Amino acid sequence: MREYRKRKSVGNFEPRRRGRKPLDIKLLQIWEFEWYKALHLLREGTQLPPDPNFVVVNERETKAQLQWWKSASYKDILGEMQPGVPPEFDELPETERERAKVRWTMSEWKWLKDFAENQRESEISALEHWLKPRITPSMRGRREIWATASESKASIKAVGRACEKWRLLPDVRSRHVAVFADHVQANIEKFQRMKADTRYPGPHADDSRLDYLARGLAAVMVGASPITAIHRLRLMRHEPGGPEWVEKRSYVDGKGKPDEVPAHCGCWRCELQASRRYWRTLRSVQEGL
Ligand SMILES: [Zn+2]
Repeated sequence: MREYRKRKSVGNFEPRRRGRKPLDIKLLQIWEFEWYKALHLLREGTQLPPDPNFVVVNERETKAQLQWWKSASYKDILGEMQPGVPPEFDELPETERERAKVRWTMSEWKWLKDFAENQRESEISALEHWLKPRITPSMRGRREIWATASESKASIKAVGRACEKWRLLPDVRSRHVAVFADHVQANIEKFQRMKADTRYPGPHADDSRLDYLARGLAAVMVGASPITAIHRLRLMRHEPGGPEWVEKRSYVDGKGKPDEVPAHCGCWRCELQASRRYWRTLRSVQEGL
């Protein structure tokens, strides 16, 4: 109260709006993207959803590679690889040296052929796996973790246990993103409140749930209100005047030619869509359209 009076006497008093500092949309977007990738990795085993055109382009490429590996000769696989110069075999009597060298070269060739065959097998199995990804037990495990964490009625204890499992997923550990599970655990009450809100999407709108939680958790990271941030990010403008709008930029490329970047929205969602257009173009080029 004393502070109030003091401020008022200064003249330019503005009511204190605790916890209502302006939202930094750019910073929120950065965190939203990080959370989106972390949650998508948890749910699907990949940080971003696959692009259908990327998949088609690469599927064709993969099938062509598979065909190559299946019909390749040893020479094709080994390329320039061949046995080196055999040792002199000085320790043997002179009459046996030549034969020893031939034996040595033959055993080297056998080694190289085994090497090529191993190479062929591992390439074929990797390519076949890419073409037909199976739902592995680890995939089921990660779906269960996501289902529990994103379930609005799951108890704090159940969500805490899901976070424990989440942080131990091998790809989460190898990508050093276990910290996201820790953040959920450290802010578990806020996380539960987000899901208790009536605007939390239903279980059949799983992608919307992922967006909602990524936005809400981004807000937690910057100390903003999750519900406000979810709302603002959802309604963000992607046109001129939007917070991420980039004006047309002219520049000179490496070969000294003038070029320009058209005006665009630079947010991660629009950038992702732009990369999808790239794969769509590549696909139509491949198909000769
Ligand atoms: Zn945008």
